[in-house]
Amino acid sequence: MPLAPDLVDRIDDLLPQTQCTRCGYAGCRPYAEAIVAGAADINRCPPGGESMLAALARMLERHTPALKARYKCLCGAKTCRGTMVAKKR
Ligand code: SF4
Repeated sequence: MPLAPDLVDRIDDLLPQTQCTRCGYAGCRPYAEAIVAGAADINRCPPGGESMLAALARMLERHTPALKARYKCLCGAKTCRGTMVAKKR
């Protein structure tokens, strides 16, 4: 059974299509499939840079490291997650 093919297409459309394999996958489409399958995080594509990471985060409703850093938590508690941004999932 295919994994949400529409979502794979949308993610693949955002990726740079250099097929450089720096993400650890055979190309951009296999990486998109791994993201949808939950097997890969969205921060494994160096050629895409911060703007592509932010676009993926918006599409998939995930928080970027930059957003977490902007709302850094300084409470000092041992269990602190380091950010005021709440988990979405
Ligand atoms: S690192 Fe990025 S550009 Fe290179 S193959 Fe993977 S997804 Fe494509």
